Amino acid sequence: MSLPPQDTPTRHDQHGRYPRAESVGDFAHNLAVVNERIAAACRKAGRDTASVRLLPVSKTIDEARIRLAYQAGCRMLGENKVQEAHHKWEAMADLGDLRWSVIGHLQTNKAKLVARFASEFQALDSLRLAETLDRRLQLEGRPLDVFVQVNTSEEDSKYGLSPADVPAFIKAMPQFSALRVRGLMTLALFSAETERVRACFVRLRELQQRLRQDAPDGIGLDELSMGMSGDFEIAIEEGATVVRVGQAIFGARALPDSHYWPGLPTQD
Ligand SMILES: *Cc1c(COP(=O)(O)O)cnc(C)c1O
Repeated sequence: MSLPPQDTPTRHDQHGRYPRAESVGDFAHNLAVVNERIAAACRKAGRDTASVRLLPVSKTIDEARIRLAYQAGCRMLGENKVQEAHHKWEAMADLGDLRWSVIGHLQTNKAKLVARFASEFQALDSLRLAETLDRRLQLEGRPLDVFVQVNTSEEDSKYGLSPADVPAFIKAMPQFSALRVRGLMTLALFSAETERVRACFVRLRELQQRLRQDAPDGIGLDELSMGMSGDFEIAIEEGATVVRVGQAIFGARALPDSHYWPGLPTQD
């Protein structure tokens, strides 16, 4: 008998304890485990597994291990720091079909790097950045898939637009013709309290549903990027179409999460 979705726990207690993948076989195993978790969450939610894309997140992982992940089948990787991502892109240019998604906050002065190499950018959070990115992309002659980041937990420490500011932001998007808006992205509250985590995901989905009704022409809002190693089952139950998963694939990161997301209570 399956539990009602409301009872899906977070896995943040496992945080920092995922085993480190050191071989192609380890990666294949971890990917299979994550894909099975995704499939189980889809079954529970009555969704088609093909409606959820797994984006492996390789931040802090060195080139040698990324190459193993590639051999195990990873073809798009998420990175939260643009310089690290750019460096990896250059170093692994020989892997012609490996693409990069930048998922972390971007300073406007680094927009030109993203415009050069990224296939996707998930942390669009200001008009100034949209403007700069668009101009740089026009110069490079390439388009970019983007997600608008929303601060659904309304914590001061988190990046992203406040939900109330998203409608006007979306209305302004058609002027940036190199930006292909795909949907919304969020980082939920980092908490073991399932209901508070779920509330963030529900908020993003409800926002998407409201905005979709009168989205400007050419602005796609089909995608919801939400959920990571500790909470992606809940995100899938609430409609995630992209889950960004690092530690459950690569293994625990050496540094505590407060290093990546300033403002989190220090743990570990
Ligand atoms: C690191 C990161 C993730 C993945 O977190 P894990 O706990 O490693 O699964 C997801 N989204 C963003 C924006 C990240 O920076």
